[in-house]
Amino acid sequence: MKQNIHPQYFQAKVTCACGNAFVVGSTMQEIKVEICNKCHPFFTGTQKFIDTAGRVDRFKARAERAELKKMTPISPTVSIEPVETVEKPNKAKKTKED
Ligand SMILES: [Zn+2]
Repeated sequence: MKQNIHPQYFQAKVTCACGNAFVVGSTMQEIKVEICNKCHPFFTGTQKFIDTAGRVDRFKARAERAELKKMTPISPTVSIEPVETVEKPNKAKKTKED
């Protein structure tokens, strides 16, 4: 190993918000986490379906609208109007042309 370029390696104590603690190898001495394998719904199996604001339904409605939009071709009657060029007083154009 090259000298003086590697961080110190600790046996870090990981503390979860649920109270669970375990040790891992890390460059940090202490790690605090909000969720771990002891309290995450994936591991506990007590998955709570949180859809209080009807977000799934809202997403579905939005996806439907997007699909409809995709199927409707862009109107060919819409033409791009030429951009009006605005004459700006040009300082370099002081020489009279008449
Ligand atoms: Zn936890």
